[in-house]
Amino acid sequence: MSDPHELKVLNPATEEVVATVPAADAAEVDAAVVRASRAQEKWAALPPADRARQLRRFADVVDSHIDELARLEVREAGHTLGNARWEAGNARDLLLYAAGGAERLLGRQIPAPGGWDVTFHEPLGVVGVIAPWNFPMPIAGWGSFPALAAGNAVVLKPAETTPLTALRLAGLALEAGLPEGVFQVLPGYGRTAGRALVDHSDVAKIVFTGSTRTGREVMERCAKLVKPVTLELGGKSPNVVFADADLKSALDPFSFLDNSGQDCCARTRILVQESVYDEARDFLADALAGVVVGDPADEKTQMGPLISRQQLDRVRSYVPEGAQALRGSAPDGPGFWFPPTVLTGEKHDSAAAREEIFGPVAVLLPFTDEQDAIRLANDTPYGLSGSIWTRDVGRALRVSQAVRAGNLSVNSHSSVRYWTPFGGFKQSGLGRELGPDALTAFTETKNVFISTEGPAL
Ligand code: NAD
Repeated sequence: MSDPHELKVLNPATEEVVATVPAADAAEVDAAVVRASRAQEKWAALPPADRARQLRRFADVVDSHIDELARLEVREAGHTLGNARWEAGNARDLLLYAAGGAERLLGRQIPAPGGWDVTFHEPLGVVGVIAPWNFPMPIAGWGSFPALAAGNAVVLKPAETTPLTALRLAGLALEAGLPEGVFQVLPGYGRTAGRALVDHSDVAKIVFTGSTRTGREVMERCAKLVKPVTLELGGKSPNVVFADADLKSALDPFSFLDNSGQDCCARTRILVQESVYDEARDFLADALAGVVVGDPADEKTQMGPLISRQQLDRVRSYVPEGAQALRGSAPDGPGFWFPPTVLTGEKHDSAAAREEIFGPVAVLLPFTDEQDAIRLANDTPYGLSGSIWTRDVGRALRVSQAVRAGNLSVNSHSSVRYWTPFGGFKQSGLGRELGPDALTAFTETKNVFISTEGPAL
């Protein structure tokens, strides 16, 4: 069965249609790649400072549209206004950071007898970026902006449910003077446009963010063309809370409720030392009751709806009627609402404790000692993120070394900064985005040896 020719974008808080957008087919993907290839040659040939200047101008234009972008994100994704403003600001900040990278994409000079040996970082060509719906703007930027700064052209396919902010970003890029074809956004279905991008022989690399299941397929298809791939996939991150921790900060419910739990770094396995388990459960019961869930456009709202009916059904399936749980409240009526929830009767190996739910649902589990905490923290196929809470510095260091995950925080729930590397261990992904090395992931290293001996006469 072929996909429809359009995407219907719904407001997840009201179920009203926000917009209808044409969905690209394989021929349109091909045409976009042809345009991108042509544009990339000129883009790569620009002096780095000129490329950087154009990206800074793009950042300025994004900056003057932060509120518009944020309100669009609220309508298409149901994010709270505060979060959506942060997301638009993240796109601006990453543009500025990546722009500086264009001027600092340094090669090396390596000692070699009889001459000089130098390395160059050359752009790959056309990069395909496939984004999910949970953070449409930031993730569009993480894949695209460092690639652009390194001299590549980008064709970005946003998720079916959230194409609008990405399309607007592409419009703002043109407004800022970026050449046509350098940054194109092509909404479409994963099976059609996504696959066409992955399979295209002139797309030099794929950056995929989404579920582990789809990521595996993308990697298999890329393997046929020996095409490099960055994968940012799912997570089931632990929040390890020792008895000596500052419990109030450690058990901040927004460590798993932010973005209605639709966050790959959400700390959804709350592992608490058994001596403070009861105290933790009582604290969480009060905290969930105080979370303000409702209209995401209202400045006071702390948590909005889920993205879609499908996602709501998925989340519900992990919380059957009668499940032992702490619950907050959520609106009735239209919209994809689910209350903040902590499951308290789960075993370590139950589906809710092991699988990524991607909603406002965490499990609360006890552990005995440091070794038990490490064992449980690592007892998952994922390895994206996690928090460790203790006042014992030695233990904090030991546990951070022992937990197999790409992004950990000690006595903090932070995980993503555009200037530090981000990515997963195990089935949470492959490669890193962001941080000081972000641009090199979009280059080939070329080594050139130049003889100083001269040709034999
Ligand atoms: P998804 O895998 O269903 O879709 C992601 C993207 O892939 C969409 O644009 C979709 O259209 C496209 N796609 C679907 N099938 C495809 C195919 N066969 N070939 C090519 N493209 C295809 O994921 P989702 O439901 O949109 O997003 C949620 C998932 O994303 C969660 O698992 C979450 O953990 C993960 N995620 C990971 C990170 C990270 O940085 N590690 C960040 C955000 C989200």
